[in-house]
Amino acid sequence: MPRRAGAAILRSRTAGPVSRRERGRRCRACPALPPPTDGARSGGRDDRLLCAERLRRARPGPRDGGRAAVRKPETVRVAAGVHLVAGSNTNWVIVREGDTVTLVDTGYPGDRELLLASLAAVGAAPEAVAAVLITHAHNDHLGSAEFLRVRYGVPVLMHEAEVPHARRDFLHQVTVGKVLANGWRPGVLPWAVHALRSGGTAKVPVAAPEAFPVAGALDLPGAPVPVHTPGHTGGHCAYLLPETGVLITGDALVSGHPTSRVRGPQLLPRMFDHDRERAVASLAVLERVDAGVLLPGHGPVHRGPVREAARCARESAG
Ligand SMILES: [Zn+2]
Ligand SMILES: [Zn+2]
Repeated sequence: MPRRAGAAILRSRTAGPVSRRERGRRCRACPALPPPTDGARSGGRDDRLLCAERLRRARPGPRDGGRAAVRKPETVRVAAGVHLVAGSNTNWVIVREGDTVTLVDTGYPGDRELLLASLAAVGAAPEAVAAVLITHAHNDHLGSAEFLRVRYGVPVLMHEAEVPHARRDFLHQVTVGKVLANGWRPGVLPWAVHALRSGGTAKVPVAAPEAFPVAGALDLPGAPVPVHTPGHTGGHCAYLLPETGVLITGDALVSGHPTSRVRGPQLLPRMFDHDRERAVASLAVLERVDAGVLLPGHGPVHRGPVREAARCARESAG
């Protein structure tokens, strides 16, 4: 696949300073980690920030039928050209190389303006996106894929087993009934309310999803290598960026979630996995990947050998 050239690149911007108002409203008792920010604020100064959940609650809710309130994108530059963006509850990754960008996942449908703002924040226009790579076709990752495909002609690529899922030939996503049955668990109901408000049950199929055109590394910024990690969904894929030692794990291995009280590498709570046994088995696949930075679909950046992170998650999964 040829890389797109000549796309508009906007002026690079970084997140502004933390306002006194935000510092003053941070809840010290909140168990959630502070949100990831740009690299200049890492290393302890993050403590001054609102955690992502508190920040969301402190701002006006969506009033236009499912679109979340627009806020400044929270991006972490984890390596040259590689940025993790924290959406309203889900992460996506921007890999910039010259004039083009690979975008991995797109957040909830309600995260669209945040997604576009995050591209601008790293100096990229939507036209610069050479392809969207989908880890899996849940709404909190697929939300704006069809929008980018239709509006900007961006191909939407994924594992062949995930293609019919993205078309919504079927849906392997936690049901409302299962969520309600787990409503007694800490964090589940607030998470569910947010998911509903952000388009978690909206119809956002991709009309023409594409399977990877080749085996191995893709001819895209970052030369991402898909790593099939089924279980959460049948065609779930992680993506290895070999040059930077970054592994994007989607929901096959996360470092936190609003419905989990555990921090650090872990599987999502069981109710979210279509096939838990395969999800656990896929951790063994990740244990064979040589990477030093883990960018999950949920939770903050995890630095350290990914094989160790995957092993810990597999052992704690029981
Ligand atoms: Zn998922
Ligand atoms: Zn997810």
